[in-house]
Amino acid sequence: MSEEHHPQPDVSMQSLRRLLILFLLVIGCAVVLVNGWVVYSIWQRIVNETQNDAHNLSQSLSRQSEDTLLPVELTLQDLRDRITLVGLDAERQNYLRTLLMERKASLPQLHGLFVYDSAGNWVLASQSMLSQHNNNADRAYFKYHQQHDDLSLHIDEVIRSRSTGELIIPLSMRLNNRDGSFRGVLLATLRVDYFRQIFGYYNLGDKGLLALMTHTGDILYVRPFSERLLNRNIAYSPLFTHLLKSSSNGTANYKAALDGVERLFGYASLKRYPLVVTVGYDKQQLVQDWLTELVVYLTLCALLLLVIAALGWLLMRNIAHTIRDQKELALARDRLTAMNRTLQTLALVDSLTGLANRRQFDLYLDRSLERAHKLRSSLALLMIDVDSFKRFNDTYGHLAGDECLKYVGNALQSIEHRTDDLIARYGGEEFAVILYDCNQDVARRLAERIREAVAALAIPHRNSESATKVVTISIGLHVMQSEQPEDRQTLIGQADKALYAAKTKGRNRTEVR
Ligand code: GH3
Ligand code: MG
Ligand code: MG
Repeated sequence: MSEEHHPQPDVSMQSLRRLLILFLLVIGCAVVLVNGWVVYSIWQRIVNETQNDAHNLSQSLSRQSEDTLLPVELTLQDLRDRITLVGLDAERQNYLRTLLMERKASLPQLHGLFVYDSAGNWVLASQSMLSQHNNNADRAYFKYHQQHDDLSLHIDEVIRSRSTGELIIPLSMRLNNRDGSFRGVLLATLRVDYFRQIFGYYNLGDKGLLALMTHTGDILYVRPFSERLLNRNIAYSPLFTHLLKSSSNGTANYKAALDGVERLFGYASLKRYPLVVTVGYDKQQLVQDWLTELVVYLTLCALLLLVIAALGWLLMRNIAHTIRDQKELALARDRLTAMNRTLQTLALVDSLTGLANRRQFDLYLDRSLERAHKLRSSLALLMIDVDSFKRFNDTYGHLAGDECLKYVGNALQSIEHRTDDLIARYGGEEFAVILYDCNQDVARRLAERIREAVAALAIPHRNSESATKVVTISIGLHVMQSEQPEDRQTLIGQADKALYAAKTKGRNRTEVR
């Protein structure tokens, strides 16, 4: 019997597992993607806000710088007009000096106001303690005016004051004689420290940068402040190489020319003067702020992923268990089926002869009778008994008796018969044959063939009553006629009586009743 057929776990469970894995992957990816997007948008927002801040601040500082310069320029223009009007003669100098001192006092950004003649000698100053013998012809702004006849305000590089030692930005204008020739220079010096005050008001973090520069890239003021950076030229910075060329103000992200630190910059040119203010926020600092803001959020996301993974793992384990249980169940079911089949066979077949057993005989006889009653057909029954079998056992032993029964059974089976005839071992050394829809002649001929076949086996039986001293059988035959239905007891009883008659008439014969 083919035992196991390798049970397959339920296919729907397998696909459920695949579906679950897919589901978990999709959920995991979705969580990562959505959060990635959120995290990136937060970064974008920080960058945008910072650039806006930098832009706004640069514009505000550029306006403040303009407000610092404009009154100085107006003062210089006014002084030039008055000098042109009254001249610089000795009798006018007291009046002019008072004027310079008054103007200087009214403008806190000013370090001083000065007038030089065409040779660079100090003629007038807002400070009283000045030595009259000093000469500033070597200063760059003086040389500029000597060589250029334009009358507009000139802003030069940062210098250290010869009078007070302070760092100052010189703002100057050319003075002309009536014929247009060079008469001298009018100078206002702006305290660098004043910018420290107005630029120092804003907090840009540790590495934030603020700078006031000329359009040619010279640094006039920088925060964090460092004197060695003043007058440094950074014309190679992207601000001057292209940004300012396309727009007077805006935002950009680049490495600062001063220290190589990457910053988000805002820049704004002054409207009236060739100066520009830049404000830069340290990008590294922004990344740190961003990460600090995200720590809790990212931790929660990681926890969420962990929970999903744990739930998935539990579910998968559950499914694996179910699949294993199903496998075991299927295996048990197959074993049971096989066992059942064996039991069924055992229940219906005689183990010694392989013929139908008594149980099968009873079932078959009942069914055949029922059918014969319904269809009004005949039914023949042969009861067969081995002759003097007790003596056979006594003579040759029980094992030989069993062997003999097997041979007899084979002989019965080998007789040609219809498929719906049943040959059974009735019990002990008795056999029975049920012949459905069979008349007496045919049944009798079959009975004789069976009897002859057994005798032909020629199994020796030296204590037999028969003359041939071989194993023989006696057969009792009864045929239930179609027109005279009988119950099973009558049928068997009649066949038994016929068998009894065969025995009493000397055995090894067939009797009919
Ligand atoms: P008769 O010719 O009148 O039938 O004489 P008998 O000896 O055959 O009749 P009886 O009914 O007295 O004896 C039947 C014997 O068959 C009794 C028993 O020992 C023997 N027998 C019954 N079943 C088996 C079996 O399965 N194996 C063996 N070896 N002997 C069996
Ligand atoms: Mg008997
Ligand atoms: Mg017998």
